[in-house]
Amino acid sequence: MRLLLVEDNERLAGLVVEAFMRESFAVDPAASLDDANAALGAAKYDAIMLDLGLPDGDGLSFLRQLRQSVNAVPVLILSARERLEDRLAGLNAGADDYLAKPFAMAELVARMRALLRRPPSLLPNRYTFGNLAMDETTQDVEVDGIRIDLPRRERAVLRLLIRQPARLVLRSAIDNAVFGFDSEVGANALEVYVHRLRKRLQQARADVTIRTEKGMGYCLVKADV
Ligand code: CA
Repeated sequence: MRLLLVEDNERLAGLVVEAFMRESFAVDPAASLDDANAALGAAKYDAIMLDLGLPDGDGLSFLRQLRQSVNAVPVLILSARERLEDRLAGLNAGADDYLAKPFAMAELVARMRALLRRPPSLLPNRYTFGNLAMDETTQDVEVDGIRIDLPRRERAVLRLLIRQPARLVLRSAIDNAVFGFDSEVGANALEVYVHRLRKRLQQARADVTIRTEKGMGYCLVKADV
């Protein structure tokens, strides 16, 4: 999980980075909207923590721009503006959550976890698991924000698995989706594609892999690294 922290208070930013690192998140700090835009251009983030009062502008306009560019990344606002109308303005601009400063680090981490747990249907068109992501519309697959090439059938297998990570997907369901009713396909064909996909994920340094549930199907799980 990779997070972007947009916060100009250096001391607070340091504490937040530290707290999330202890929980095995990677956090990139940005001290201005300029820095934040540069970071967004260079990497894909699972979520953003956003301060509102920044040296080069207002976090709310940054958030509105983000949503206008159809970026559905979850955003949690961190702000000293704690009045009801401030919170509403933040949520109306497209924030997913709002935490007033000062806050307890444990609450911030818990809220971020809750945000990241939301079912993929609320974060349209993009499925993520570990450092692996798949865009439902473009069918692009990424590891740590870097696009990897996958042949059509491997991609079809992954598409089913990443929709229900850490859960068993029945062999018959994958067979149907990947091969349709193609009678030319041998009984071991699916194994071959899964094997290739597993290898490809490993090469791309994905932190997830495909576990075979013997006689049942497959499951996308965190890799032992
Ligand atoms: Ca500030």
